[in-house]
Amino acid sequence: ETDAEIIDGDAVASEIRDELTDAIETLADAGARPGLATVLMGDDPASETYVNMKQRDCEEVGIESYHVDVDGDASPETLYEEIATLNEDDDVHGYIVQAPVPDHVDYREVIRRVDPAKDVDGFHPENVGRLVAGDARFRPCTPHGVQKLLEAAAVETEGKDVTIVGRSDIVGKPLANLLLQKADDGNATVTVCHSRTAALAEKTRNADIVVAAAGAPEMIDGSMIGDGAVVIDVGVNRVDADTEKGYELVGDVEFDSATENASAITPVPGGVGPMTRAMLLYNTVKAASLQEGVEVEL
Ligand code: NDP
Repeated sequence: ETDAEIIDGDAVASEIRDELTDAIETLADAGARPGLATVLMGDDPASETYVNMKQRDCEEVGIESYHVDVDGDASPETLYEEIATLNEDDDVHGYIVQAPVPDHVDYREVIRRVDPAKDVDGFHPENVGRLVAGDARFRPCTPHGVQKLLEAAAVETEGKDVTIVGRSDIVGKPLANLLLQKADDGNATVTVCHSRTAALAEKTRNADIVVAAAGAPEMIDGSMIGDGAVVIDVGVNRVDADTEKGYELVGDVEFDSATENASAITPVPGGVGPMTRAMLLYNTVKAASLQEGVEVEL
C-alpha cells in the first residue's frame, strides 16, 4: 500500500528549464547568448553519455554548447592547455571537465586551473570556500537540485532533522553545508553519515528528511525510515536484471518498503537525476548573467 507522495523530478526540472528559457531571452535581448563547454578526456562510455545529455539539454533551452575531446593518453599539460583556452574564450561562460579523468591526471589540479567564474560544477576550492562561508557563487548541481526538489514539494527544511548518507565532495558535503546555512532553504539540523557511521539506522530513523547518497543499491529500507519522513534518493546504481540491457537502475533506497513509512519520496530514475542536469543549465545562465553584466531572474 502506497500513500507516499512521489516527487516528480522530471516535472520540476521541466519547470526550471522553462524559467531558464525566460532568463535566456532576457540575455538575448541584451545581445548575449550563454555558452557551456564540456571537456572529455578519454572515452569512458558512461562519461560520453553524460556529456551528450548535457549538450542536448543546452540545445533545448537555447544555450550554445561546445565540446572538447582530449585523448585519454595525452599529457596532463595537454588538458591544461585546453582549460587555459576555455578560460580565455568569451563565448564560453561555463564549462565542466567530465570526471573521472584518467589515472595519470590529478583531478584536483585540473579543477584548480578552471577559472572559478566559469566553474559551473562549483568544485573549484574558491567556490567550495564561498559556499561554506554562506556566499555561494555556484551551488553544486546535485545538492542544488535536491534543494529545489524539496522546495517544489513544499517541504520546509527550517528546524528539521536531516540525515544525509554519504559525505562526498560532490553530493553529501556540499548538501550538508547548504542545508545548514542560515537561509530560508537551510536552517536544518544536519547529520552526515558515511561508511564508518555507527548505528546508521538510528540516525536515518530519527530524521524528518533522509537524503541517500551512498552509491549502495537499496541499502536503506523501510525499517530505516521514520513515520512521515521525506526521502530523497540521490543514488543511481546499475544492478543485473532480466532486461534488454541486462541491467536496471535502482537507488540507494528500497523504494517499495520505504513508501510504507515515507510521506514523500523521489523515484529512481526520474527524481534527482533530471534536477542535476537542470541545475547545470541554471549555473550556466547565472555565469553568463554575471560575466555579461545582464541581470536575469533566477
Ligand atoms: P561516492 O562514492 O563519492 O561517496 C559515497 C559516500 O557514501 C561516501 O561518503 C561513503 O562513505 C558513503 N557510503 C557508501 N556506502 C555506505 C554504506 N553502506 N553506509 C554508509 N555510508 C556509505 O559517491 P557520490 O557522492 O559521487 O555518489 C553517490 C551516489 O549518488 C551514487 O550512486 C551516484 O551514482 C549517485 N549520484 C547521482 C547523481 C544524480 O544526479 N542523480 C549525481 C551524483 C551522484 P566513505 O566516505 O566512508 O567511503
